[in-house]
Amino acid sequence: APLLLGLTGGIGSGKSTVAGLLAKAHGAAIVDADAISRSTTAARGSALSAIAEAFGAHLINTDGALDRAAMRDLVFTDPSARQRLEAIIHPLVSDETDRQAAAAHAAGAPLIVFDVPLLVESGPRWRARVDRVMVVDCDVETQIERVIARNQLPRDQVEGILAAQASRAQRLACADVVIYNGAGTDLAQLGAQVEIWASRFGL
Ligand code: ATP
Repeated sequence: APLLLGLTGGIGSGKSTVAGLLAKAHGAAIVDADAISRSTTAARGSALSAIAEAFGAHLINTDGALDRAAMRDLVFTDPSARQRLEAIIHPLVSDETDRQAAAAHAAGAPLIVFDVPLLVESGPRWRARVDRVMVVDCDVETQIERVIARNQLPRDQVEGILAAQASRAQRLACADVVIYNGAGTDLAQLGAQVEIWASRFGL
């Protein structure tokens, strides 16, 4: 059976870069939890009919996707709406994740990487599905600099996103494997750490 690896880290830590290395060098199949989650509420997404039923048809845009601004307003005035929304979306994400993992398994992938930015925040839900959790560790200042450079965002907005995520220490406490990609790590050093881990796991 393929090794099931949960890959997580804060915004800008380098998850996608590590996933890319694992795909290229070791034939890993990547399951992108954020992309799957977004697709459930995009036009023709699997969550839309249940959302319309639970919250009203006005939550759906004319293009058939979730009206994210309307949903934000609703969650702001009624915090329980967030839990109800998550109760709709989580099982759908879980099903699609299983489907993609089964397809990768059937295709003979030796490694399936679940890229889950909020793995630590989601508690045992994700932890239970994977064999190992890999944390891409990065100091906060480097995270902030990378996200400012990549997304052209103001610093205070990046700091706000970071404040809403798990802390570096909380993430490290959940890690089976730590890949350091903070200040002073170039891409060659990142790749070398990934290779050491891969050879330990016989990949
Ligand atoms: P997010 O959660 O925001 O999607 P991420 O954890 O997937 O981020 P990446 O997209 O892999 O992070 O990396 C963030 C940015 O930093 C990218 O532009 C990437 O090219 C760059 N980067 C990552 N690691 C390094 C490194 N060691 N040296 C230089 N640049 C890097």
